[in-house]
Amino acid sequence: MRWRYYCDFCGKVGGSSYHMLNHERACTKNPDRVCGLCDLAELRQQPMPVLIEALGYGDAEGLERLRDAAGANEVGKGCPACILAAIRQSPKRPAPEDYEDQSDPEIIREKIEFGYYSPVFDWDREGGAGHFDYQAEFKDFMAIVNAERTRRDWERGVYG
Ligand SMILES: [Zn+2]
Ligand SMILES: [Zn+2]
Repeated sequence: MRWRYYCDFCGKVGGSSYHMLNHERACTKNPDRVCGLCDLAELRQQPMPVLIEALGYGDAEGLERLRDAAGANEVGKGCPACILAAIRQSPKRPAPEDYEDQSDPEIIREKIEFGYYSPVFDWDREGGAGHFDYQAEFKDFMAIVNAERTRRDWERGVYG
Protein backbone atom coordinates (compact mmCIF):
# COMPACT_ATOMS: atom_id res chain seq x y z
CA MET A 1 0.00 0.00 0.00
CA ARG A 2 1.05 3.56 -0.69
CA TRP A 3 1.02 6.30 1.89
CA ARG A 4 -1.17 9.24 1.05
CA TYR A 5 -0.76 12.66 2.57
CA TYR A 6 -3.50 15.19 3.15
CA CYS A 7 -3.27 18.94 3.61
CA ASP A 8 -4.64 19.76 7.08
CA PHE A 9 -6.12 23.00 5.76
CA CYS A 10 -7.74 22.27 2.39
CA GLY A 11 -7.76 18.48 2.20
CA LYS A 12 -5.60 18.29 -0.93
CA VAL A 13 -4.12 14.82 -1.43
CA GLY A 14 -0.55 13.99 -2.41
CA GLY A 15 1.84 11.06 -2.51
CA SER A 16 4.88 12.75 -0.99
CA SER A 17 5.16 14.11 2.55
CA TYR A 18 7.82 16.56 1.41
CA HIS A 19 5.59 18.14 -1.23
CA MET A 20 2.60 18.12 1.07
CA LEU A 21 4.54 19.95 3.81
CA ASN A 22 5.60 22.55 1.25
CA HIS A 23 2.01 22.89 0.11
CA GLU A 24 0.68 23.23 3.68
CA ARG A 25 3.15 25.97 4.50
CA ALA A 26 1.79 28.12 1.65
CA CYS A 27 -1.78 26.71 1.43
CA THR A 28 -4.28 29.51 0.81
CA LYS A 29 -6.47 28.04 3.59
CA ASN A 30 -3.66 28.18 6.16
CA PRO A 31 -4.18 31.20 8.48
CA ASP A 32 -0.43 31.35 9.16
CA ARG A 33 0.64 30.75 5.58
CA VAL A 34 4.05 31.82 4.33
CA CYS A 35 3.62 33.23 0.84
CA GLY A 36 6.17 32.04 -1.71
CA LEU A 37 4.93 34.50 -4.35
CA CYS A 38 5.43 37.51 -2.05
CA ASP A 39 8.90 36.21 -1.35
CA LEU A 40 9.63 35.84 -5.06
CA ALA A 41 8.41 39.37 -5.79
CA GLU A 42 10.20 40.80 -2.74
CA LEU A 43 6.89 42.05 -1.32
CA ARG A 44 6.33 42.30 2.40
CA GLN A 45 3.59 39.72 3.07
CA GLN A 46 0.68 41.09 5.11
CA PRO A 47 -0.91 39.01 7.90
CA MET A 48 -4.18 37.24 7.02
CA PRO A 49 -6.36 39.35 9.38
CA VAL A 50 -5.17 42.53 7.61
CA LEU A 51 -6.01 41.07 4.18
CA ILE A 52 -9.40 39.74 5.29
CA GLU A 53 -10.28 43.07 6.87
CA ALA A 54 -9.34 44.86 3.63
CA LEU A 55 -11.66 42.63 1.55
CA GLY A 56 -14.62 43.56 3.76
CA TYR A 57 -17.83 42.48 2.08
CA GLY A 58 -16.05 41.46 -1.08
CA ASP A 59 -17.50 44.16 -3.27
CA ALA A 60 -15.47 45.97 -5.95
CA GLU A 61 -14.09 48.47 -3.41
CA GLY A 62 -13.17 45.67 -1.03
CA LEU A 63 -11.26 43.87 -3.76
CA GLU A 64 -9.37 47.10 -4.60
CA ARG A 65 -8.48 47.58 -0.91
CA LEU A 66 -7.31 43.97 -0.80
CA ARG A 67 -5.13 44.49 -3.90
CA ASP A 68 -3.46 47.47 -2.22
CA ALA A 69 -2.93 45.49 0.99
CA ALA A 70 -1.46 42.62 -1.07
CA GLY A 71 1.17 44.88 -2.64
CA ALA A 72 -0.65 46.33 -5.65
CA ASN A 73 1.50 49.45 -5.69
CA GLU A 74 4.74 47.54 -6.07
CA VAL A 75 3.69 44.72 -8.36
CA GLY A 76 0.72 45.09 -10.69
CA LYS A 77 -2.54 44.22 -9.00
CA GLY A 78 -1.12 42.67 -5.83
CA CYS A 79 -0.03 39.15 -4.92
CA PRO A 80 -2.64 36.75 -6.37
CA ALA A 81 -1.95 34.05 -3.77
CA CYS A 82 -2.51 36.49 -0.89
CA ILE A 83 -5.70 37.77 -2.56
CA LEU A 84 -6.99 34.21 -3.06
CA ALA A 85 -6.10 33.34 0.54
CA ALA A 86 -8.10 36.31 1.86
CA ILE A 87 -11.11 35.33 -0.28
CA ARG A 88 -10.99 31.71 0.87
CA GLN A 89 -10.47 32.54 4.54
CA SER A 90 -13.03 35.32 4.81
CA PRO A 91 -15.98 34.45 7.00
CA LYS A 92 -19.26 33.72 5.24
CA ARG A 93 -21.44 36.79 5.09
CA PRO A 94 -25.07 36.64 4.09
CA ALA A 95 -26.02 38.73 1.08
CA PRO A 96 -28.13 41.78 1.87
CA GLU A 97 -31.87 41.31 1.41
CA ASP A 98 -32.04 43.57 -1.62
CA TYR A 99 -29.30 41.75 -3.51
CA GLU A 100 -30.87 40.56 -6.75
CA ASP A 101 -28.85 37.34 -7.14
CA GLN A 102 -29.94 36.19 -3.68
CA SER A 103 -32.05 33.39 -5.15
CA ASP A 104 -29.50 32.11 -7.68
CA PRO A 105 -28.50 28.77 -6.13
CA GLU A 106 -25.47 28.41 -8.39
CA ILE A 107 -23.88 31.64 -7.21
CA ILE A 108 -24.62 30.86 -3.60
CA ARG A 109 -23.09 27.38 -3.94
CA GLU A 110 -19.92 28.75 -5.56
CA LYS A 111 -19.42 31.20 -2.76
CA ILE A 112 -20.05 28.67 -0.03
CA GLU A 113 -17.65 26.25 -1.66
CA PHE A 114 -14.92 28.85 -1.51
CA GLY A 115 -15.86 29.78 2.04
CA TYR A 116 -16.96 33.18 0.92
CA TYR A 117 -20.47 34.43 0.74
CA SER A 118 -20.61 37.95 -0.47
CA PRO A 119 -23.14 40.14 -2.24
CA VAL A 120 -21.14 41.04 -5.33
CA PHE A 121 -18.01 38.96 -5.28
CA ASP A 122 -18.41 37.15 -8.54
CA TRP A 123 -16.13 34.15 -8.45
CA ASP A 124 -15.17 32.93 -11.92
CA ARG A 125 -17.74 35.02 -13.72
CA GLU A 126 -16.79 37.53 -16.39
CA GLY A 127 -17.74 41.08 -15.67
CA GLY A 128 -18.63 40.61 -12.01
CA ALA A 129 -18.17 43.67 -9.85
CA GLY A 130 -15.45 41.97 -7.86
CA HIS A 131 -14.24 39.47 -10.43
CA PHE A 132 -10.98 37.76 -9.57
CA ASP A 133 -9.39 35.22 -11.91
CA TYR A 134 -6.48 33.59 -10.09
CA GLN A 135 -4.89 31.91 -13.14
CA ALA A 136 -4.91 35.09 -15.23
CA GLU A 137 -3.61 37.23 -12.37
CA PHE A 138 -0.88 34.72 -11.56
CA LYS A 139 0.32 34.91 -15.18
CA ASP A 140 0.35 38.73 -15.15
CA PHE A 141 2.08 38.78 -11.77
CA MET A 142 4.87 36.44 -12.89
CA ALA A 143 5.40 38.43 -16.11
CA ILE A 144 5.93 41.60 -14.02
CA VAL A 145 8.18 39.80 -11.52
CA ASN A 146 10.33 38.38 -14.33
CA ALA A 147 10.55 41.72 -16.16
CA GLU A 148 11.57 43.40 -12.90
CA ARG A 149 14.27 40.78 -12.30
CA THR A 150 15.66 41.22 -15.81
CA ARG A 151 15.76 45.01 -15.27
CA ARG A 152 17.64 44.60 -11.97
CA ASP A 153 20.06 42.16 -13.55
CA TRP A 154 20.81 44.71 -16.27
CA GLU A 155 21.43 47.35 -13.62
CA ARG A 156 23.79 45.03 -11.77
CA GLY A 157 25.67 44.43 -14.98
CA VAL A 158 24.83 40.74 -15.09
CA TYR A 159 24.74 40.86 -18.89
CA GLY A 160 28.13 42.50 -19.16
ZN1 LIG B 1 -3.95 22.92 1.34
ZN1 LIG C 1 1.58 36.77 -1.30
